[in-house]
Amino acid sequence: MSFDTIVVVDWSGASSPSPAKPSKDAIWIGIARGDAVETSYHRTREDATQTLSALFEQERDAGRRVLAGFDFPFAYPGGFAEAVCGSSEPLALWQALAARIKDAPDNANNRFRVAAELNDLFPGTGPFWGCPESFDDPRLPAKGTARDGHGLPERRACEDHVKTTQPCWKLYTTGSVGSQALLGIARLHSLRDRFGPDIAVRPFETRDAPITLVELFPSLVAGTVAALAEPDEIRDRAQVRILAGALRALSPAALEAMTREGDPVEGWILGLGHEAEIERAARKAFAPAGDLIPPRLRDDCFAMPQGVSWVPVDEALAKLRAALRPVTGVTSIATARAAGRVLAADVAARRSNPPMPNSAVDGYGFAHAATGSGIQRLPLVAGRAAAGQPYPHAVPPGHAIRILTGAILPEGVDTVVLEEDTSTDGTTVVFDGPIKPRANTRKAGEDVSAGDPALPKGRCLRAPDLALASALGIAELPVHRPLRVGVLSTGDEIIAAPDLPAAPHQIWDANRPMLLSLAQGWHYEPVDLGHVRDSAEAIAERLHEGAREADVILTSGGASAGDEDHVSALLRSRGTLSSWRIALKPGRPLALAMWEGVPVFGLPGNPVAALVCALVFARPALSLLSGAGWTEPQGFTVPAAFEKRKKPGRREYLRARLDASGHAEVFGSEGSGRISGLSWADGLVELPDGEVDVRPGTSVRYIPYASFGLV
Ligand code: AMP
Ligand code: MG
Repeated sequence: MSFDTIVVVDWSGASSPSPAKPSKDAIWIGIARGDAVETSYHRTREDATQTLSALFEQERDAGRRVLAGFDFPFAYPGGFAEAVCGSSEPLALWQALAARIKDAPDNANNRFRVAAELNDLFPGTGPFWGCPESFDDPRLPAKGTARDGHGLPERRACEDHVKTTQPCWKLYTTGSVGSQALLGIARLHSLRDRFGPDIAVRPFETRDAPITLVELFPSLVAGTVAALAEPDEIRDRAQVRILAGALRALSPAALEAMTREGDPVEGWILGLGHEAEIERAARKAFAPAGDLIPPRLRDDCFAMPQGVSWVPVDEALAKLRAALRPVTGVTSIATARAAGRVLAADVAARRSNPPMPNSAVDGYGFAHAATGSGIQRLPLVAGRAAAGQPYPHAVPPGHAIRILTGAILPEGVDTVVLEEDTSTDGTTVVFDGPIKPRANTRKAGEDVSAGDPALPKGRCLRAPDLALASALGIAELPVHRPLRVGVLSTGDEIIAAPDLPAAPHQIWDANRPMLLSLAQGWHYEPVDLGHVRDSAEAIAERLHEGAREADVILTSGGASAGDEDHVSALLRSRGTLSSWRIALKPGRPLALAMWEGVPVFGLPGNPVAALVCALVFARPALSLLSGAGWTEPQGFTVPAAFEKRKKPGRREYLRARLDASGHAEVFGSEGSGRISGLSWADGLVELPDGEVDVRPGTSVRYIPYASFGLV
């Protein structure tokens, strides 16, 4: 059996109609049939349900088999269904939930009330939690931590396979899926009522029916969706469009088999364990010819060998370089708008520069063969040759023509004498010979010949590159999509912005503006992921969003291994963390991890250490991810204006600038909390790993901020 029509639905638990203008966090439906993929936007669940009902009917009547996937759980962890409806049958639970849920055509609904009542069936507090402040019912706690003694598991087995799924008990705030499930199950139940045996819900029902319903989790292939999305496409739309097309592109037998996998009581997320296959299908369906979508990074790409303690900076850099590869897709852009973008392919000249031989100066042109040494007197032909105004006739041997810079050499002219070296009465030009043959002329193609390589793949395009491409007739350039760099600050003491009042124990966020501005200056697309408190749940939620909106994430704070180091603790338990203890000052362990296929750089909280780690580690790594290749900052050897004895064993970076005589002076304090020193400096002095004894005049390596691309 195969499916003729694939439907992917991004559901919503909203309490009022979504905006009239298509937007995110609303209901989106993707439909793939034949080679076509369409999407539609729905402001209410009622509207979406009616659309689905009409579509199911039309397809069934036309004899086309439908697979429809929804992004909410179809079942709850073991024990819940029995308590609610006296049976472990998930579809009996659907009926019981549908009987309680009231969901009006304008999305107004009673889900919090229903959840509170369901909680009442269990001892203690919970399992459902999360509600707006206005919903005041002690049976539904606002916080997950307030639950106790309800006795139900937090997750289903399949959710343990995908760490980023949210538990179905959570009804409110970012990323929660609990409300979507209660409201969605009620709506799907109404469709079952209407279509009877024509609908089979997998994996609970195994019969072949005209319409098959399955549970999906689009973030399973988030990286590929992001890479294949159209520029500025709403994420929910991209998800349903690309997933529908990808499932359509799978082999029919493979897809049919996937719908039958999983636990017939707890349910299953379609495609679990087949992510790579689905991603390949998505590329097959959507990557235009030549648009290479890079494979995702391996989850263990940051792993350090066992037993490694302090890693020298160069070794850490070499490991990082080996682990990463470009992650951005390819598109094309008008040459004039390409500054800062990374060239995705070698580009060849479409035409020679210059296209024709021309004059390099203002002067008089003639045939060299008819001149000699001593005073030369050449009669002038009427007219002149100027740039953009070619002389249409031949210049006879022994004659000369007035010629201006950039003018094509007329027929009969191969040499030009500089105006300043001549006298003329308007009819004759006089100069002192001999003149070298071809003097003051430019050969066609002497700069670049048509077909020659003009710009190399990986070049981060600068103003001069745009000049060259334009001169060579290249109107569009193949470029990588800009790397999206998410920036997240963490810490209970951090206050998001200086325009907010701060208590004495609070400090304003210094790292986020710094890191966002670095990303901007490096020509990436900064994605502000805001600030979260030191809570694993909050950090996880924000990383989950970040992984959908960004190609790489920089966090700051909480990266070490202490009690309050929630970033590293979270990444260790739920991502794949490699904490690298790098022999570097200032800097502490740099937490490197993969989160939903997206690399995360856990930078230290101290702004000084955060900047140094960002410049030394994140900059070359981001450059590589963006397609521009690994970069090494250009340093200069200058005499020191300071004294310092440094012990062996780690590399040090000092905040520095050049004094009036070109000597490197360093900031008075090495304290890593001294942000003023970062601002005072114009660069860093890099002291090598070994022992050094710097005295005034000793040569040191100075790396200006500009060499780190810091603007
Ligand atoms: P942590 O790495 O979280 O232990 O933080 C180390 C130090 O950096 C602490 O003094 C934090 O208050 C400070 N810090 C952390 N994040 C920021 C930030 N975004 N802006 C300014 N200071 C920060
Ligand atoms: Mg902290």
